[in-house]
Amino acid sequence: MGNTLLIPQLTNAHVHVLDYFLMDIFNKYYIDDVVGAPYGLKYYYLRRVNPESLRNGLAMVFRRIRNYGIGCLLAIIEYGRLFTDVVINEARRVGLCIIPLAEPSAFRVYVKPGEEEDVDEGFEDDVRYFVDNGLGVSLISPLNYTMAELRLVSRLSGSRGLPISTHVSETEDTYLDNDLGRALTTLVTGNTVFVHLTQLSEEDLAKIPTLPVVTCPRSNIEFVGRLARVGAMLRRGLKPLIGTDNVALIEPDLWDEMKVMRLLMNGELNSHTILNMATSWAWSWGFGYIIREGETMRGVALRIGYENMSLDYVYEYLTTRISSGDIVYLIDGSSITRIT
Ligand SMILES: [Zn+2]
Repeated sequence: MGNTLLIPQLTNAHVHVLDYFLMDIFNKYYIDDVVGAPYGLKYYYLRRVNPESLRNGLAMVFRRIRNYGIGCLLAIIEYGRLFTDVVINEARRVGLCIIPLAEPSAFRVYVKPGEEEDVDEGFEDDVRYFVDNGLGVSLISPLNYTMAELRLVSRLSGSRGLPISTHVSETEDTYLDNDLGRALTTLVTGNTVFVHLTQLSEEDLAKIPTLPVVTCPRSNIEFVGRLARVGAMLRRGLKPLIGTDNVALIEPDLWDEMKVMRLLMNGELNSHTILNMATSWAWSWGFGYIIREGETMRGVALRIGYENMSLDYVYEYLTTRISSGDIVYLIDGSSITRIT
């Protein structure tokens, strides 16, 4: 393989792929009008489109993701019942391991007082369908479902060991409406992934049990102008993962994500930690890969474009200099695919 470094294929722990067709209107409209539920253009379009018509576009998105050296994806699938087949098929076709997180079609714009014990029939039906088909469940935010609905998802998915994903405290509004409190009283019995946590203080983070948490640095800077307190997450003993969020907004390239995070959090996050976030910490939650003797290798070989690199510089080299042009091979067991 020449002068290359071998590492496990990366895990993108939070990505929305069903909005790729909106990339050219992003920045022309307010973000909630583009991807917000249920009135945003994404939801409006997805309610009308034939899933088959997205197949070619999705194939291109997944090919691109794969060529960044990513092996595993935690993918949010809006209107899960309609789109899981096409998303899962196209992801697998390029060799990605996909953890599908199917979103029920029913959700509430607000939960009104007095509704907390209600369970929407369509919601329950979707969740049961997802669980029966071995799919994870994606919740938009704990604010979009009643407490009874949140408990129901936790009970049904958690009892089968299926993951649940929810956005938590991405924006100040959702934080002030106590989405974290709702999540902590209902969703922590299952295998729940908390995404964003941008607004949480060190004290808030101290309340989170050891569940997988995901930070989306570039998306958070674009949407809400701040990064989550990843340093505080580490002090709390959490093992945060990295996601790229909406394809409409952010190129799903984890190398860019790592560079941004290192620059903005220099001092609090070393390169070794950042690489753990993209690889072995995801594996520790059952997503993605590590390289270990006796196991089928899922690796990526990265070209080192300099001579005589010192070994104690390896982690810094990976988080500061590697870009997509350096990804030379994907290794899947005995199959080796050349990328560049
Ligand atoms: Zn998201």
